[in-house]
Amino acid sequence: MEERYASHPWDNEMQKRIGDLNIAVIGDGLTVDYLVSAMVAFGFGKKGFYVFSDLNKGFLNKLGDPIEVLRKINKVGLWSTYPKEDLPTLKDEIDYIIAVNINDKMKKALKERKLEPNLFVDVSDIGIVSKNGVKNNETNEDASAACVASAVALEYVFREAIQNTPTPPITIYNPFAFDMVGLKNNSLTYEFEDKKTIEDVMLVGNGSMGNFVAINLALTGVKRIVLVDYDTIEERNLNRQILFYDSIGEFKVDALEDRLKKINNNIEIQKIPIRVSQDEEETLEKYVNKKTVLVGSVDSFKARVFLNYFAVKNNLTYIDGGCGVKKVPLFIEINNEVKEFHPWISIGDASIYVPNKSLCLKCAHLDIEDKALAEIPELRLNSCVAERMAEEGVRLPPKPPSVITGNMAIGGIITGEMQVLDEAIKRRIQVSFNSHNYGVIGESLANWITSVRNEGKICEHIDLKKLLVGA
Ligand SMILES: [Zn+2]
Repeated sequence: MEERYASHPWDNEMQKRIGDLNIAVIGDGLTVDYLVSAMVAFGFGKKGFYVFSDLNKGFLNKLGDPIEVLRKINKVGLWSTYPKEDLPTLKDEIDYIIAVNINDKMKKALKERKLEPNLFVDVSDIGIVSKNGVKNNETNEDASAACVASAVALEYVFREAIQNTPTPPITIYNPFAFDMVGLKNNSLTYEFEDKKTIEDVMLVGNGSMGNFVAINLALTGVKRIVLVDYDTIEERNLNRQILFYDSIGEFKVDALEDRLKKINNNIEIQKIPIRVSQDEEETLEKYVNKKTVLVGSVDSFKARVFLNYFAVKNNLTYIDGGCGVKKVPLFIEINNEVKEFHPWISIGDASIYVPNKSLCLKCAHLDIEDKALAEIPELRLNSCVAERMAEEGVRLPPKPPSVITGNMAIGGIITGEMQVLDEAIKRRIQVSFNSHNYGVIGESLANWITSVRNEGKICEHIDLKKLLVGA
């Protein structure tokens, strides 16, 4: 197994199935770029990956020749691309067809060739993933909606093509009224014009979720980004950190700066290659002003507690996103016999703090402090306890890495929500994709993306020290 997939929370068989699937993506636009680059990073296309698209409307063509960029993201992926007029004549070789933003003419052309797409993805200012090509309205493709819809579409491929689990259609409303699934009540959708462009962002954590947040911001007119990440790029990151091809060994802040400059040369980019903690508070404070929106896409609860404190102290709006995987017990009755499964589910959440308007993450009781205290490897790695444990041969279990779909969904939600902050502070969004263990069936789609109501209360922390871990 390739090193980039070796630490995935599923087995070789699953990765092999992903690689063996022959897939075709037909269509145009930013959503194609998101979908195809994520699938290639993930290991799709070892056997065949056909892209019928000009690939000239997204971000890939800004990074270089799109095909070359995709081949850099993963050498094994991608057989070929064609102009979409050369529709596939290779039906027998294709297991699953995804049509993205196709028009009626293209639909007709597909029908004439007896090619029936398995999935339609249509993105304007909302995203629709459907079985019959429900047409969206004709406004421009929104970057955040494209990002989330691509994540959801990729989950469909897992469920339907890898697990043979038929899955009903889904609509993703943007701005992000994530009371959306099945959508009986869409009272939380807003007018497109209500969206605000965020101009000044400090992005802490530049990994997978950070990659998607950064692309969305670069595409939607951010003026300054401060990149904060102490880490360097490793091979095993490349299954989900789509911008870091060709950059193993480099600092994430450096590689991300290079890619963002290519996507949008007008952004002012500053870099701080440090691990965030109270020791670095003064350094970080030099880079924020009262317009700065703080985005946390970090992989430790300790860092999230610190960022919450930092936001309250400096009166900054803070959007916190987190992603991971979790093993959950699941009991399913099969032929009158209850069987127990332990599927890995991909989980994530996004929460927002706006000074004087909402609760901070700690007083919203989001358990971040408890989780920070429970983060034994994180907290004790450099302590004498860890050293003694290591001497005694005790090995702490490695934390399985998050996967690309959760990071794409939360990354898209973060940038969608930051454009509608006044509404967004009323909720906290949770994502749980339960598709990564083939053979497990039955959970409701409504559990994929949910929002938790959080209305009206305001953070009253006066003693800032109480916001730190263990205070
Ligand atoms: Zn508070």
